[in-house]
Amino acid sequence: MKFSSGISEEAYAHLRKSMVSGQIEARRIKSRRVLDAMLEVPRHLFVPQELRNSSYDDTPLPIGYGQTISQPYIVALMTELLNLKSSDTILEVGTGSGYQSAVLAKIVETVYTIERVRELAESAQKIWNKLGYKNIISVIGNGYNGIEEYAPYDGIIVTAAAKNIPEPLLQQLKSNARLVIPVGEYYQKLWVITRTELGFDKRSSIPVRFVPLLDDESFDDGGVKTVF
Ligand code: SAH
Repeated sequence: MKFSSGISEEAYAHLRKSMVSGQIEARRIKSRRVLDAMLEVPRHLFVPQELRNSSYDDTPLPIGYGQTISQPYIVALMTELLNLKSSDTILEVGTGSGYQSAVLAKIVETVYTIERVRELAESAQKIWNKLGYKNIISVIGNGYNGIEEYAPYDGIIVTAAAKNIPEPLLQQLKSNARLVIPVGEYYQKLWVITRTELGFDKRSSIPVRFVPLLDDESFDDGGVKTVF
């Protein structure tokens, strides 16, 4: 298959290997499934054409509409923190480029993902179609409230920073399932919240920097809609 101009697919595969060993294994991500998924998913196809040469760099990149694709290590860390099984159904809030959804889709059975910017959701869908992903279900809407319709989930990942932990997301977790979410305004931390028999166990991980999770009236498309 030929997708891109300039660098060959073989050269991108080589860059991907270096990314996984130099940025991800080097920072102690150990899950074989996570490492394999990151070795397989062609990150460069989720990045705007003019930034493709930087797609395997140790950094987030702009994807338009004021949004970003996360740094590879952060994608790997959040995926590992979800503690996934192959039979899982996962909800992602903040589809963005569609890269994180693709990494999840390599590991689990079903990924639901919700995005408020229609153009980003549509662009992600085109890339997944091209690559043959059949287990990603994309919804356009405000993900602050999760997606009640398909709940409960075996895990929820939020890839935008929330001011506080959205209660609806906690309620949409199965027992023993985890919510991985950056929380804070300027200074943010990654939190892992596990639903237990007794309530919720909250643990903080590393400091991070994400675009904000919006929960305002600027989304005016009539609520959650399945479009694809
Ligand atoms: N996971 C993405 C990173 C996305 S950046 C990737 O792999 O590329 C965060 C995304 O969250 C942005 O696209 C932004 O539009 C979206 N977002 C912010 N608030 C949201 C909300 N309330 N509901 C759904 N999506 C939201």
